[in-house]
Amino acid sequence: MSQKKCPLNGEQLEKLAAKFSTPFHLYDEAAIRANARALTAAFAWNPGFKEYFAVKAAPNPYLMKILKTEGFGADCSSLPELLLAESIGLSGEEIIFTSNDTPAHEYQKAVELGAIINLDDITHIEFLEQCAGLPERVCCRYNPGPLKAGNAIIGHPEEAKYGFTRAQLFEGYRMLRDKGVKRFGLHTMVASNELEAAYFIETAHLLFDLVGELSRELGIRFEFVNIGGGIGIPYRPEQKAVDLSFVGEGIRRLYEEKIAAAGFGPLDVRLECGRMVTGPFGWLVSRVLHKKNTYKNYVGLDACMANLMRPALYGAYHHITVPGKENLPHDFICDVTGSLCENNDKFAINRALPAPEIGDLVVIHDAGAHGHAMGFNYNGKLRSAELLLRENGEAVLIRRAETVQDYFATLDFAGLNNFNG
Ligand SMILES: *Cc1c(COP(=O)(O)O)cnc(C)c1O
Repeated sequence: MSQKKCPLNGEQLEKLAAKFSTPFHLYDEAAIRANARALTAAFAWNPGFKEYFAVKAAPNPYLMKILKTEGFGADCSSLPELLLAESIGLSGEEIIFTSNDTPAHEYQKAVELGAIINLDDITHIEFLEQCAGLPERVCCRYNPGPLKAGNAIIGHPEEAKYGFTRAQLFEGYRMLRDKGVKRFGLHTMVASNELEAAYFIETAHLLFDLVGELSRELGIRFEFVNIGGGIGIPYRPEQKAVDLSFVGEGIRRLYEEKIAAAGFGPLDVRLECGRMVTGPFGWLVSRVLHKKNTYKNYVGLDACMANLMRPALYGAYHHITVPGKENLPHDFICDVTGSLCENNDKFAINRALPAPEIGDLVVIHDAGAHGHAMGFNYNGKLRSAELLLRENGEAVLIRRAETVQDYFATLDFAGLNNFNG
């Protein structure tokens, strides 16, 4: 039934479980690299093309280091994300800092690293100038409002808190120009988990037109446009991945017409995808702890929404397989749950599975982005380990599981002795 695969079979996963214990996240280096190369190839026509991996999707420096060797930079939006980028030796042009509601010390660190600053609001021009000084190169984030339809996860652009309005963009770049900024970029991010290839071509169209208008009106030259992230992945087995070469080719044609022929080139095309970079190449591996039958069937795992909260957070579908039982009839209808005292702590609702037994391993697919990263400690739950399947077939620990000591690390128990409750 399912076409979704995990690179390791049940026996191999059991070996990892014996060594690292469940639950754990597993990432596939070979698949991540192959996908990164496909993305780069789709934009090979643009010599300045760069993908900035959205660190928030999988903030693990080992994964980021692999992506760095594939030519990717980092899209950061907080101080810890900047520090992760720095830890793997990224700097300057290789980092874009796309933040909002930004504290001064984060701008300072971003400027110190020489990162491309992507401003979220016109008032941040002065804020940045005062707290860190204006760098010679600045990017602004455009919110097209009603000019662009949104999608389910990100909502309608006019309801989104991000970015400059169209009028503010003209005013903002004028201010930046008059303050001596010389190098310019234009950014937008209007979709999330979008599977329609045409959507990204349309976004490029919007930005290319705007580059023309802004350049003409203000007499400034743009070095790059950043089309944002948001390329979706096929979470459901019947869905299809976005055809990257179709997107690249569609954008190339527009570039020829709107940029090259109009004399606005060379213009680097940039992306900041997270989900499509690691999402399909990560799995949450867990074990069945309990089975329960009340008004419904429940299969309780040793993982919970602290390890992967997308299903609980937005009812997202994640495919689930039971290694070794892939070809058995999927005739057991159940809710697959975690142990949190929150009724939405479910990985699946009314899912047809091949009847799992207590002790079976369960693989939750497409957990490689916005998975471990969204983890939290509510209810005293601890985040799981992350393992990387290297290209040579060896699985290495790239983040250990949290311990109770980690959970208590911010509490001063000794101080309790002097505290009169
Ligand atoms: C979340 C985010 C991304 C990455 O989105 P994906 O859906 O993971 O590709 C890129 N840019 C910005 C500004 C974001 O907030």
